[in-house]
Amino acid sequence: MKKPRITVIGSINMDLVTVAENMPEQGETISGDSFKTLPGGKGANQAVAAARLGAEVHMIGKVGDDPFGRALLENFKTQGVNTDPIETEAGTSSGLANIIVSNHDNRIIIIAGANGEVNPDYVNGFKKQIGASDYVLIQFEIPKRTIEHILDLCETLGVPVIINPAPAMQLDDVHWEKAAYITPNDNEAEKLFAYDTDGLPKFHERLIITNGAKGASFFREDRMITVPTEKVEVTDTTGAGDTFNGALAVALAEGKALEEAVAFANKAASLSVQKLGAQSGMPKREEME
Ligand code: ADP
Repeated sequence: MKKPRITVIGSINMDLVTVAENMPEQGETISGDSFKTLPGGKGANQAVAAARLGAEVHMIGKVGDDPFGRALLENFKTQGVNTDPIETEAGTSSGLANIIVSNHDNRIIIIAGANGEVNPDYVNGFKKQIGASDYVLIQFEIPKRTIEHILDLCETLGVPVIINPAPAMQLDDVHWEKAAYITPNDNEAEKLFAYDTDGLPKFHERLIITNGAKGASFFREDRMITVPTEKVEVTDTTGAGDTFNGALAVALAEGKALEEAVAFANKAASLSVQKLGAQSGMPKREEME
């Protein structure tokens, strides 16, 4: 079988994870317990999920001209993601997530860095690559005008787009209508597609709503169909949504029917939550059989 071709256009981050027993108070310095750097960013995570499941994946995005950027490129290569389109942006840092985890709390500061420079002109440089894709997969950690541009461009090129609208951000109807599928979690669905007077969410015909341990739902002829997921022992749910989206793109690109594709995505995500780490827990194709 020909490998499905997926292009992910989105964020690439390094997660800087500091673990301490307590949070420092204002003006206080404390000793922590450990520090780790972990590749992340919704775009990068979804690209890795799709590549591990056997797709040919091209990542369109930017890293900064710093050691994190070089490590992030190296990580993609190890994971089998094609990095040819990735640009190193001079004069800015790589996208970063500063994460402090304590016993009682966690606090996160995200720096968009090079992700903020993923602009329409840069995306236009890859029209050929985008046009040759079975699916394009995007999230909302790059500028809004770029999101809108990608939807316009993919419509012109005739390539279906999956939007994972995370973090939640509203688009105008004209742009939501250009998506083949929109994959909010239940919170994002509530925020963005509030239920209509007829009891159905807006754009329900293209929604696939993930709902944690309950699985995911879509609509068929105005009826909600819920595809349940297996009950599993949870270790770490970080990246569950990203695994779901990468796997969904692979299944749809392979021509699976919607219900089967959602079941495949549930299965991949349920395997990922059983292991620690966003990317390191993502299943390989062999583990799906
Ligand atoms: P997000 O991580 O974006 O908030 P969800 O929590 O809805 O998204 O999780 C996405 C998908 O991951 C779910 O649809 C499901 O397939 C899988 N998943 C999440 N949590 C669990 C869990 N506790 N057990 C099994 N599968 C899970």
